Amino acid sequence: MLRVVFRWIRSAMVVVSLFLLSAQASTAEIDLLIQNARIIDGTGSPWFASDVAIDDGRIVAMAATLDLDARETIDAAGRVLAPGFIDVHTHVETSSSRDGLQRLPRADNYVLDGVTTIVTGNCGGSEIDIAAWRDSLVGLGINVATLVGHNSVRKAVMGSDDRAPTSQEMQQMQALVETAMQDGAVGLSTGLLYVPGTYATTDEVISLAKVASRYGGVYASHMREQGLKLHDSIDEAVSIGREAQMPVQISHFKVKGRTRWGSIGDALALVESYRQEGVDVVIDAYPYERASTNLGVNLPRWAVAGSIEDIAARIRDPDTRARIVADMKAMLVDAGYPDYSFATVAQYKPDPSIHGRTISEVNRIAERAATIDNEIDTILEMMLAGGAAGSTYGASMIYHYMSVQDVDTIFRYPNTAVASDGNINAFGRGQPHPRSYGTNAHVLADFVRDRQVLTLEDAIRRMTSLPARTFSFHDRGIIRPGFVADLVLFDPRTVTDKATFADPHQYTEGFDYVIVNGVAVVADGELTDDRPGRFLQHRQP
Ligand SMILES: [Zn+2]
Repeated sequence: MLRVVFRWIRSAMVVVSLFLLSAQASTAEIDLLIQNARIIDGTGSPWFASDVAIDDGRIVAMAATLDLDARETIDAAGRVLAPGFIDVHTHVETSSSRDGLQRLPRADNYVLDGVTTIVTGNCGGSEIDIAAWRDSLVGLGINVATLVGHNSVRKAVMGSDDRAPTSQEMQQMQALVETAMQDGAVGLSTGLLYVPGTYATTDEVISLAKVASRYGGVYASHMREQGLKLHDSIDEAVSIGREAQMPVQISHFKVKGRTRWGSIGDALALVESYRQEGVDVVIDAYPYERASTNLGVNLPRWAVAGSIEDIAARIRDPDTRARIVADMKAMLVDAGYPDYSFATVAQYKPDPSIHGRTISEVNRIAERAATIDNEIDTILEMMLAGGAAGSTYGASMIYHYMSVQDVDTIFRYPNTAVASDGNINAFGRGQPHPRSYGTNAHVLADFVRDRQVLTLEDAIRRMTSLPARTFSFHDRGIIRPGFVADLVLFDPRTVTDKATFADPHQYTEGFDYVIVNGVAVVADGELTDDRPGRFLQHRQP
């Protein structure tokens, strides 16, 4: 009821503001008028020609021709005006391996790629004290919302122990999730592949998800397994959302491993079957066939439990090491790889000279014969020398896990949102995945313009209204009077991602204007000095 009233008030306000504009057209001056734009409104509808009036951070009028006085006028000259992109899967907390939003609050790599809102706290990793983190964010160039991460909550209460929580520990975890939601978190994320989330049962996650659900949160899942047990993992993610009665966002959807390439259609059919049953489950993906995560994922889960000292002790103990090696060989065979040439070092503190090299190359540089045993030795030595290194476990890596065809199939599924899974680092730091710089432009240049996997309108929908509705950003993600003026202006014939795996530190080119809450953070292709970004809280039901 309240929501209905609220909607009515909002539409009434739009009518009133339009009336005021028309009544005082000669005297009232709006903030910004964009003329001669091709509007792609974010809903997936075909583009149409319109002017757009913006005042006080919101879109106040749209018409084929608007004759209004404005403090600033932009002639779009037929370029596309779309809603600013909403990237629901990022990792922008500051850590030892990333500068994050606290140090680089303008988020240059994102705004230059057309992104106006990011959601962080994904894969189970977030800040615990959301209020303190929110207050620490000053001078934002972008809107930000955060999930609360199960791994971070579990670690704060139980360390990295491989066991079930006591009832008291369970209550402590629930209390942390509750406080985070009260402080504005938009939901709960899990990373059931990672330590210590991997030691949690489904029931543990459900009982925490129920807390987030009471506050209208989303359940965002980095699934337990994305290879052999992909379908079981989808079932688990859906059952958590179903039990806790909340929307499910399955993160960076993929099937890992050469042996399973071509089977992604079955996994998408499983997701769709749940939607048909009435479960609100959607997915997101980044438009690259290579993934990025830590070095430790190559080890069996039991071997990476506990502290970094625990892990090192296992690697040093000859009998335990032999078991680790045997499991790693089995994992390699299962995924269908002949060696570790699919694994490239992105960031390795003890020896930056190997950045950009595959494990097979690192092995050869160390003048070892090219055998699986030697490559595994190389990995285990890097684990020991690299240490925990924040969240990276030994090193941060890029893995050639997916096929181009599977990635295309994922992007053709109507309920796949575009999300980078990227982060924010100082320009030039490390050898990151290019997705942090170019995800959205890569979709527009490669998937839309060059290969025609998607139409422009459909691609934009996946960057805007689709993620906005899942995360209840009800007044963003669509160009419509009354909505917040988060906008991008670009020429679809020329917008181009420049970042590559070999040379990732390159900004996207072609987003001429990026407008956040009605204020330009990019104007004529250049960053401005304005910082209009906000911390977005979940609107509580
Ligand atoms: Zn993840």
